[in-house]
Amino acid sequence: MSEKVKIAIVGASFAGLRAYISLKKRFPKAIFYLFDKEDYFTFIPSLHLSLCRPSHLQKSQFSLKRYFGEAFIHEEVISIKDHLIETKKKTYAFDYAVISTGAKVNYFGNDDLKKHALGAKSVPHLKVLHKRLPAAKKIVIIGGGLSGVEYAAMLGATSDKEVTLINGADRLLPAILPKAGAYANRYLEKKGVKVIHDAKAVSATEKKVVLDSGEEIPADMIMMCTGLKQFCPLLDSSPITDTLHLEDDDHIFLCGDVAKSDKVPTAHAAMIEGDIVAEHICAKLHQREPKPRLMKRQTTLAVGLGPQAGFIVFRSWYLPLPFTGFLKLHIEKSILLSFKRRIKLFI
Ligand SMILES: Cc1cc2nc3c(=O)[nH]c(=O)nc-3n(C[C@H](O)[C@H](O)[C@H](O)COP(=O)(O)OP(=O)(O)OC[C@H]3O[C@@H](n4cnc5c(N)ncnc54)[C@H](O)[C@@H]3O)c2cc1C
Repeated sequence: MSEKVKIAIVGASFAGLRAYISLKKRFPKAIFYLFDKEDYFTFIPSLHLSLCRPSHLQKSQFSLKRYFGEAFIHEEVISIKDHLIETKKKTYAFDYAVISTGAKVNYFGNDDLKKHALGAKSVPHLKVLHKRLPAAKKIVIIGGGLSGVEYAAMLGATSDKEVTLINGADRLLPAILPKAGAYANRYLEKKGVKVIHDAKAVSATEKKVVLDSGEEIPADMIMMCTGLKQFCPLLDSSPITDTLHLEDDDHIFLCGDVAKSDKVPTAHAAMIEGDIVAEHICAKLHQREPKPRLMKRQTTLAVGLGPQAGFIVFRSWYLPLPFTGFLKLHIEKSILLSFKRRIKLFI
């Protein structure tokens, strides 16, 4: 195995940083390129908190240049092919690439929604939301999954906005326990959030969202929190294998939200996948047969409702905890510290 192997990681967030930390430890002399279009790591699961408390954003970030400066390249990758990664400034040759660029907002091909509904999953999205929020009295959130529920709960608990949550399924958080979804529903209604189930947004203007039933919901600000579209715009849509590489190129791996799978897309799962990809690259470099994908179903999840409340899901149990907000802040701090110190938390 050549120690001067070139490994490129595109996307320095939960999945990409875990893959980098694992690989750097095993191959300290390899040449690494760690790309991100943003120069800060941001704890994305706290974006809903930062929307209502903008001062929190800084606490949930750190400079990638400061902590990963030996490999970090602050550039947006625009193409990956033939063992070459291209940014607007330069082209980089690689032996292995890890793509961990996260998911894109899913507008279901609806141009109206794309024009009028704002994304809510990245810092650039948050900046737009911050500008629009003060003047918005009526907020419509589309999507009753994890991020839609956390945003609705935060806005319901900490603002006097009129919030409507449009949910395509017949219950909230359909990928989690039904009892937990019902609990979140009760919490939202108590906070004055109107929840509409079994409804699909079919069109939108600057001032309203139209549902498939024909009902029109007035809106000053529309947020798109639907299931995130899991695809990588940098690659043709080749499927990925159990060992998380492209079916037609075993030098390109995908992990985190960008890797299509049936699991709930979470930061926790993204970090585990970062480790799995590092394992497989390691096996290849040592000319070992990689083991099949070792992704276990996530059994524990903390869901925040407002700044403090929320609940913990553990296997088939859920436990309402008035201090979930503190727990999530503690998790955030631990993960930020673990990345800065390059310690792998036990997850
Ligand atoms: C409001 C909200 C609440 C959430 N709550 C929770 C929760 O409670 N618990 C939980 O576990 N998960 C939660 N999640 C989900 C979690 O945030 C994601 O699953 C996680 O961020 C995925 O990590 P990732 O590394 O795959 O991708 P991301 O965190 O999306 O990072 C992708 C990175 O790639 C970079 N990038 C993208 N394209 C390019 C390019 N072309 N060139 C260079 N860089 C690029 C981006 O700048 C970014 O840094 C929540 C998400 C949201 C939005």
